[in-house]
Amino acid sequence: MDNRDRLLQSAAIGRISHAYLISGQEGAGKRDFARDFARTALCSGAGDKPCGQCKSCRKFANQTHPDIKEYSGDGGKNSFHIETVRGIRTDLYVTPTESDYKFYLLFNVENMNIHAHNAFLKILEEPPRYAVFLLTCDNPKAIPSTILSRTMNIPLNKIHDEPDESYAIAEEIAVCMIKGQEYRSASLLGALEGDRKQAIKIMVRLGEILAEKLKKNAIEKSGKKINSQNHLTGRKINSIIILLEDIISALEGNANVALTLSYLNIYAHNQQEVPGHSR
Ligand SMILES: [Zn+2]
Repeated sequence: MDNRDRLLQSAAIGRISHAYLISGQEGAGKRDFARDFARTALCSGAGDKPCGQCKSCRKFANQTHPDIKEYSGDGGKNSFHIETVRGIRTDLYVTPTESDYKFYLLFNVENMNIHAHNAFLKILEEPPRYAVFLLTCDNPKAIPSTILSRTMNIPLNKIHDEPDESYAIAEEIAVCMIKGQEYRSASLLGALEGDRKQAIKIMVRLGEILAEKLKKNAIEKSGKKINSQNHLTGRKINSIIILLEDIISALEGNANVALTLSYLNIYAHNQQEVPGHSR
């Protein structure tokens, strides 16, 4: 499950924060994702959301939903004007008509100048409870930290034409490690031994996925587990991430792929929290 699915799932069950920053390169589908998120959260259907049938979904399809507003700065630097932000502020006082939320989709927020940023920051500091802001930008580094710290950052990867198999395999290995499924992860890792390049790619992904899980659950370097059924503490996951750097450079050198991956598996499933010397 990627970022998109996870977020849409939480929108469907009404677990919604006040502000999100959806970031990613052009072509990552940021706007579509923001619209999907709003549509899912506002759907009043009983089953899977968005249902496509309810009043809210129909209004969305006709682009006439009164509780979804879009604003953008599409003309490059400084094109997201302070007047636009002021317009948002005025609109904010109007309570939602159809539901419990009002969605403000703000595209290309990196094109706000300092004045627009400051005006928007004031809004973010004390938004009405029904307001949800979905901001998009290409690069979160271009956004002032005062705004970053008040938004949940959702990085989106570019949608690939063909599904990226390495990501799915790495995700499965990560889950096996976290749940303590030693034999399953051994067999997934074992299947990589014939392809050094693919093994390296998957190890890189595995490190990214584990780091993301730590961050998301706020258990970095702590003795806490992601949840009580899980096997690994934050500290242990962190030590696996550190070990992965060694594993990757060993694989980039001439290390035996099967032995190196099997060392990783043994390390991941014992309780030791500081990596020993692998070579
Ligand atoms: Zn619906």
